[in-house]
Amino acid sequence: MNATLLPDFTPELQVLRDATEATLLPRSAKISGAKILVVEDEPDVIRALTMRLKFAGYEVIVASDGASATRIAVTEQPNLIILDIGLPCGDGHTVARRLRENMNTTTVPIIFLTARTSQEDRAKAMGVGAADFITKPFTAEELLASVERALNSS
Ligand code: CA
Repeated sequence: MNATLLPDFTPELQVLRDATEATLLPRSAKISGAKILVVEDEPDVIRALTMRLKFAGYEVIVASDGASATRIAVTEQPNLIILDIGLPCGDGHTVARRLRENMNTTTVPIIFLTARTSQEDRAKAMGVGAADFITKPFTAEELLASVERALNSS
């Protein structure tokens, strides 16, 4: 937009325009109002995660199995993925590998979520460049801190 076309150009208007441009910066969009894909098959955990994340100001989308997780991630382009490992139709490790292989999702940060605590799971998760690894049960503070860290460093 050409500023000279505005009839009543005032410093207030400039401040307003600066603020609007600031909110359009990709970095700020990543943090406040970031789109998070939750991949989880347990209804109670989906409800808890969705509630916590929405309350913190994030947009939340959900996939409840491995196959739809990959599809939704490619079409929705989330800023972050919270990925359960024990899933129907392709476990979390398989989903993560597919996401890394797809050029549209190869850099999206992934936080693994699991009830399992095996060293093998952890090693596999770190192998695909996981941003974090959270073991169930987890606290809301733990989750939100991890989400913010992952978004900030992406
Ligand atoms: Ca599960």
